[in-house]
Amino acid sequence: MVLAQLGGSISHTLQQMSNATIIDEKVLSDCLNEISRALLQADVQYKMVHDMQSNIKRIVNFDDLAAGHNKLGIIQQVDFIQQAIFNELCKMLDPGKPSFTPKKGKTSVIMFVGLQGSGKTTTCTQYAYYHQRKGWKPALVCVDTFRAFCQLNQNATKAKIPFYGRYTESDPVKIAAEGVERFKKENCDLIIVDTCGRHKQEAALFEEMRQVSEAMKPDLVIFVMDGSIGQAAFDQAQAFKQSVAVGAVIVTKMDGHAKGGGALSAVAATKSPVIFIGTGEHMDEFEVFDVKPFVSRLLG
Ligand code: GDP
Repeated sequence: MVLAQLGGSISHTLQQMSNATIIDEKVLSDCLNEISRALLQADVQYKMVHDMQSNIKRIVNFDDLAAGHNKLGIIQQVDFIQQAIFNELCKMLDPGKPSFTPKKGKTSVIMFVGLQGSGKTTTCTQYAYYHQRKGWKPALVCVDTFRAFCQLNQNATKAKIPFYGRYTESDPVKIAAEGVERFKKENCDLIIVDTCGRHKQEAALFEEMRQVSEAMKPDLVIFVMDGSIGQAAFDQAQAFKQSVAVGAVIVTKMDGHAKGGGALSAVAATKSPVIFIGTGEHMDEFEVFDVKPFVSRLLG
């Protein structure tokens, strides 16, 4: 029954397994190796793939498998293994605690962090627009460079969302504090701060993040990661988590070829859930994260 949820190459592997006359340790190992290959290609971290393999092997009872030599028994066992793989991956995307949830009508300050190019500025607008359509009163603050200032300002104007930024002021801490103060006075209930991005994970960037966070005391820090980042996701997410209290993750560019397996690493590194995914550059190409279709795509 889970076959429908699993993607192409993996369903094929599992289909082959259900055609086997016996499922023993070797058949299961071969099958798990195939699945692991697909997950590594989907950018899931090696260690997580290895853990998933070990967990599945631990929960499969070979005595039961030996008892199920008939066709029905084998199909039931394959079903069980499929479900176990699916559940293991879902578990890896569940940090065990929900993220802070802002409440409409009550001011929350949300700080966005991520490397330049991750889609952070686009995501800030999408997050604001998503809430605006649901009757919130969001506002955008830009403490980033001239480029991001212009982009966020334009987006905000287009969506009729109040915007604060000063590209002549070079102190991001000052801009952040001013912007947050202004929008608190205006009774905005969602103050979204787009922070500085750099191309690389460098000490100066993290120190700046720490200072901005200390000045603003955000209710939630969201780490934005490019869905195609690959195996670098864990280190990148961990580096941000070490500087600021990341409490949620948004994965962008899920409209491309990338499967977004780095999201599992980001969840592990930040111990925070994925809350939304970006599926394009436009304001409304933004969806609430749903674990089951995400895992199906990973396995596809
Ligand atoms: P920032 O440097 O992290 O603020 O990233 P930007 O928001 O400027 O995004 C970098 C590039 O990625 C821009 O060209 C965006 O239009 C593009 N982008 C952002 N999010 C998405 C997405 O979900 N899908 C696609 N295809 N492009 C995106």
